Amino acid sequence: MIKTRAIVLHRFPYSDSSFIVKALTEESGIVSFIVKGGKKKESPFRGALDPLALSEVVFRQNPNTDLQFIKEATLLDWRKNLRNDLLSTAKAQVMTEMILRYAPQGVPLQEEFERLEQAISEFDSDSPQDSPTPEGSAHSSTSSVPDKSRIFAQWLLDTCDMWGYNLDLTTCSRCGHTLEEPAADFFPETGGFVCQACLGVEHPRARLETLNGLWALQTGDNIEHPEFTENALLTYLRHHIGFLKEIHSIKFLNETRKLFDYH
Ligand SMILES: [Zn+2]
Repeated sequence: MIKTRAIVLHRFPYSDSSFIVKALTEESGIVSFIVKGGKKKESPFRGALDPLALSEVVFRQNPNTDLQFIKEATLLDWRKNLRNDLLSTAKAQVMTEMILRYAPQGVPLQEEFERLEQAISEFDSDSPQDSPTPEGSAHSSTSSVPDKSRIFAQWLLDTCDMWGYNLDLTTCSRCGHTLEEPAADFFPETGGFVCQACLGVEHPRARLETLNGLWALQTGDNIEHPEFTENALLTYLRHHIGFLKEIHSIKFLNETRKLFDYH
């Protein structure tokens, strides 16, 4: 019997009363569960198998089938704040879909679990992530709303790293010098950064928001327009993973971004 924490990645109906749930478990990587009677109101699993929930599941791993029977599922965190935040939810859905489609199957994915759990917890947080500013400090009047601008971009960068496509944010790919300021250009297809001296009078292809955002990722600053940085990292990752499978939830993310774009 295996008892492990699990993040629900995806759930879809199976027959009239059952669900199939795909979850990223801490111990056994991605596991598909069949949940008989899961759609019933009195199901003991209610809430624990909602997408994005963190739960503790108990199951016996049958090596002869891809679908495991779940014995117990106990809800640890339903992510109430995350669910009230449409943009964070849309980003979390892209993360879970990417894990589901691109992470290797049938192997433990402990690091993927830890990083996804951290990102989702940060999205769910309703208190500032930084330690409180000391009283009397010049910044004490700043909003107490946590800044979530880095979470998705940081997760994408970590995922590049985890899956063997490490992105070097601080080296010019042409001259090899260490960057002392935001790069003058970035090529998401190759992941190459270009310094101002190497770019010369050429017009950069990347937007300033992208370059500043990628720089902020390694300085630890907040990102002002994270969608540009996120899209650049997504393009980089997809070029390395391959275009075989489209990530459907990106469409929803783009629709959601439009709702928050009041410029
Ligand atoms: Zn250079």
